Amino acid sequence: MIDFHCHIDLYPNPVQIVEGCRQRGISVLSVTTTPRAWHGTKLLTMKASNIKTALGLHPQLAHERKDEVALFDRLLSETAFVGEIGLDGSPEFKPFWKDQLTVFSHILNSCQRAGGRLLSIHSRRAADDVLDYLAAYSGAGIPILHWFSGSFNEQDRAIQQGCWFSVGPAMLRHAKGRSLVARMPQNKVITETDGPFTQNEGRSLFPWDVSAAVNELAVIWRIPQDEVCAIVDANLNRLLGNVPKATGV
Ligand code: MN
Repeated sequence: MIDFHCHIDLYPNPVQIVEGCRQRGISVLSVTTTPRAWHGTKLLTMKASNIKTALGLHPQLAHERKDEVALFDRLLSETAFVGEIGLDGSPEFKPFWKDQLTVFSHILNSCQRAGGRLLSIHSRRAADDVLDYLAAYSGAGIPILHWFSGSFNEQDRAIQQGCWFSVGPAMLRHAKGRSLVARMPQNKVITETDGPFTQNEGRSLFPWDVSAAVNELAVIWRIPQDEVCAIVDANLNRLLGNVPKATGV
């Protein structure tokens, strides 16, 4: 199984999470929320070949951490994976919109100049703007829209622009999320948890809780769960096969 968007460094016991993933053979994209978290998070997973660490600057932190874009640039050559990045247009974060745009465009420009990266992207209430920026920086890499929650029109645009989607149990719990997932090209879908931010019955999701997403995808796609796993595995391999070669990583 695959959890392609998880904040391993934000669990109270990250070492146990890494070990749990190793025991279960789960592949993880361990995303970070600030460039300063990069080294510590990378260190956690040094010995776990199934876990890749992504360099990020979360849009909800853009106004507090915008000065860290310089550190982002210095670290970018160390990884082929970037996330969590993006824009958040919800009322709580809209006041910092200008900072969000500055940080997001800076990061996309850096990724483009570096030859492209795999990008795990947050687009809550900002899908159209995210897609505008991705179009403007088309060399930034391969966008994977995490927990996509836009409209059908925005989704059609995202598909047209070649975006991938990572979907998790929280998204699949609601009819709107399920209807979006049903419209996604099967060959562009990958699973995630967004743990520990997401919860079920009062506890944070663990990477192995992607099994709930696999179950839901089996219902939506009307195929057995092992076929879902095979499709998502094949998708991940194709995605990793497309890691931009210019990185030298
Ligand atoms: Mn996240």
